[in-house]
This record gives sequence, structure tokens and C-alpha cells, in this order.
Amino acid sequence: REEVAIRLVQDVVVVVTEMGRAFVYVILGGGVAAGYAALEFVKRGVSQGELCIISEEPVAPYERPALSKGFLLPEGIELVLGTRVKSADVKRKTLLTATGETISYKILIVATGARSLKLEEFGVNGSDAENVCYLRDVADANRLVNVMQSCAGGNAVVIGGGYIGMECAASLVINKTNVTMVFPEAHCMARLFTPKIASYYEDYYKLKGVNFIKGTVLSSFDFDSNGKVTAVNLRDGTKLSTDMVVVGIGIRPNTGLFEGQLTLEKGGIKVNGMLQSSNSSVYAIGDVAAFPVKLFGDTRRLEHVDSARKSARHAVAAILEPEKTGEFDYLPFFYSRVFTLSWQFYGDNVGDVVYYGDMSGSTFGAYWVSKGHLVGSFLEGGTKEEYEAIAKATRLKPEIEDLDELERQGLGFAVKV
Ligand code: FAD
Ligand code: NAD
Repeated sequence: REEVAIRLVQDVVVVVTEMGRAFVYVILGGGVAAGYAALEFVKRGVSQGELCIISEEPVAPYERPALSKGFLLPEGIELVLGTRVKSADVKRKTLLTATGETISYKILIVATGARSLKLEEFGVNGSDAENVCYLRDVADANRLVNVMQSCAGGNAVVIGGGYIGMECAASLVINKTNVTMVFPEAHCMARLFTPKIASYYEDYYKLKGVNFIKGTVLSSFDFDSNGKVTAVNLRDGTKLSTDMVVVGIGIRPNTGLFEGQLTLEKGGIKVNGMLQSSNSSVYAIGDVAAFPVKLFGDTRRLEHVDSARKSARHAVAAILEPEKTGEFDYLPFFYSRVFTLSWQFYGDNVGDVVYYGDMSGSTFGAYWVSKGHLVGSFLEGGTKEEYEAIAKATRLKPEIEDLDELERQGLGFAVKV
């Protein structure tokens, strides 16, 4: 989360000694959503001692200077860092920390995010090897950088063709490492990209020297006598010698504390349009929340920073000013930047796909049309104004009668809507 939540290592260690503290508001988790929720509380005003953040990480949520000034040195927010909550009792409204303290709340905001899926969950051992890296938090990022630096000029195998795989592969190449990407699907970013969009990025990566092995998965590692991985064995029989491995095979939301206590859906904590769970004193935000997306009339759990920020703000507004706060009305937004490439996507990737622009150049895009309406928009290499235009057009869900005409108008359609 380097880009979205650069965390400042605080030299303040909060030593929790007393038993049984009570707060009006407790934010459980110290990531992006927690940081934005805290900022919103500060903006709207909380009294001394009313709000507490409990985070397993030893560092405070932090993002960009303006935000940090809002909540890193907050008046009246209790930061309980380096502290894992090991159980929750939503009936009693208490949390029990690994240090043995009970913290009670009137309102709880669950912002526990997600954890990286481990290879062991797919039957492969070796996640603990010193040259196998995952990437979820700042500790992982520091480790990855150290391993990468020690392998400069060498080989890396990247397992997974999603966001982590694509972004880490680009960073490794920039850091002069030879990269082979391995993933089970027929093309990269399979959850979002069409084969045609994926081929644009794969071709670009190939020109940068990245080797793709698709349609297969890892079956085992070879290790040296120090327990370092020396080769990756694939199910198709290929053996890849390597100096390091990066694994990005998806995440699982951290819902464990609340299983059997709150209603879950789509792997997350189900909330209503006020981000309120099946227990009215518990809200959920960020990656862990499954919330109604009004625009598409269904419930979704999104794993992106914009949704973490906006769901956090909305939950705090709903808690502090319920009568003035309507239902969360969110337009899904995903983006990535790699090498000199940069894309944004808004909405939903279902229905017919209409491409526009020059796929052999640096700017192109696609629209998704479902049931006669524009529901999704993708743009690579756009300007700020063009991205704003596709976002606005997607939110309006205009009627599309003629796909050929939409193709002919291309980006101009979104700009004119
Ligand atoms: P997190 O930020 O994961 O925070 C969860 C917090 O809860 C952590 O502090 C964790 O320690 C804490 N926690 C969990 N369980 C407990 C417990 N039991 N006790 C105490 N604390 C607990 N999204 C984008 O849209 N664009 C990007 O470019 C982008 N880049 C990314 C790059 C990386 C490397 C990663 C990993 C993610 C990226 N994302 C990006 C996704 C984005 O970071 C997440 O969607 C976002 O962090 C979700 O925020 P969150 O607060 O819900 O969860
Ligand atoms: P992901 O869901 O984007 O991709 C997971 C990938 O794992 C799949 O594309 C697939 O190729 C691969 N995979 C699945 N099972 C596998 C198996 N058995 N063996 C090998 N490969 C397998 O997840 P991620 O890339 O791990 O990213 C983790 C989280 O971080 C996601 O929530 C993502 O949204 C977030 N993230 C977002 C951004 C961004 O928005 N720009 C950047 C980085 C990370």
C-alpha cells in the first residue's frame, strides 16, 4: 500500500497497561479506511477520549501530508498500536486484545481489511523462505525491497497475474531483475480486463523483457541447504530457476472475529447503505465491507482504496449525523500505474464491450454496455479531464441504442454526455 497509505513509523509506543478502557467510538484496524474514518471524526469533531484506533501494525495510518496533519497528531484520539484484537463480543460491545485488555465501545467501526492468501492454502509449502515475498503492509514492502536489492541482475518469478503481480513485475523490471510471470488464467488481470485489453499490457511487458507462462500454477519449490528457494516447479512440468519469488494470489477479508456474530456476504461483513452491519452498533468499511452498490442494485465487496476512503467517510457521517446522511451511493473505481502506463476503470465490466482509440498507440479505451445502458468505462493514457468524463458518463448510465455509433464516437461520447 505504498502509494495509498505511506505509513509514518511512530516512535511513540503505546503501552497498554490498564484494564477495561471504554470509548464511545472504536475503529478496529489501522489501514487506509481506519485513517480516513479518523480524519472524518476529527473534521466533524470528537471530544477528548471519545475515539480509539486499535491496530495490529506498529505504525499509525498515514497518507500524504495534509491528511497526516489531520490525524497523526490528533487531539483526543487514542492510538493503540502493535496490538491485535483476538476476540470480539458484539452483544457485550467489547474487544479483547492480545495483551489481555478489554476495550469497550458504544459504536465499533470494523476496518480490518484483508490478508494475503498464502501458497499453503493451495497446497504448496515455502511461504516462509527468505526469498519468497508477499505484499500487504509496510513490513512486507521493506522486506520485498531488501530481497529485490539482493537479487539485482538476477531472476524473479512472480506468481499471480492480478494487481500485485502486474505492479511488482513492473517494479522488478525497473530494478533490473529478469521476470517470469506465472498465473492460471489465459490472460493477466482476468477479473477486470478483456483478452484484448490484457494483450495490450502483456505485449508492453514483453517488450520490457517479461516472460509470461499462462494457464498453469506452481506445484512446488526447490530449496538450497539454507532453505532458500532456488527453483519454481510448475504443474505443466516446467522448472524455473530463480533468485526470488513474489506471490500475489489474492486476499481474504479479515472477518474471523465476527463470524457467527454478524451477517457475512461476498466474503465480507454485510452492511446497509449506512455501512451498518446486522448489529446496529457495528459498522464496517474498506476491504472487509460488503455494501449495496445502488448503481447496480447489488451487494459488492471492493478491494480498492477509493472505496476504502469513501466508505470510511460515509460511515462516520452516518454515525455522527444520521438524519442528514443518505445511503452510500458509490461508483466503483479501480486504477493502476505501471511503467509509463496508467489506466482507470469506472463501473461494472459486464455486457458487450466496445473499444475505441488506438490500441497500437498510447491512448485507448473501452465501454461496457449492458441491457441497453453504459455500465462501465476503461481508459488508458487519458488526461484528468478525460478520466473525469468517463466517470461522469458511467455514473449517468446513459441509454445506448447503437454500439457502432458508440464505437465511432469513442471517447467523445463520454466527453459530450
Ligand atoms: P487495510 O489497509 O488492509 O487495513 C487493515 C488494518 O486492520 C491493518 O492495519 C491491519 O493490521 C488491521 N487489523 C486487521 N485485523 C486486526 C486485528 N484483529 N486487530 C488489530 N488490527 C487488525 N487500491 C487501489 O485502488 N489502488 C492502488 O493503487 C492500490 N495499490 C495497492 C498496493 C498494494 C501493495 C496493496 C497491498 C493494496 C493496494 N490497493 C490499491 C488496495 C488498497 O490498499 C486496499 O483496498 C485498502 O488498503 C483497504 O483499506 P482497509 O483499511 O480496508 O484495509
Ligand atoms: P488479485 O485478486 O488482483 O489477483 C490474484 C491473482 O492470483 C489472479 O489474477 C490469479 O492470476 C492469481 N492466482 C489465483 N490463484 C492462483 C494460484 N493457485 N496460483 C497462482 N496464481 C493464482 O489479487 P492480488 O494481485 O494478490 O492483489 C491483492 C489485493 O491488493 C487485491 O485486493 C487488489 O485489489 C489489491 N491491490 C490493488 C492494486 C490497485 O488497485 N492498483 C494494486 C495492488 C494491490
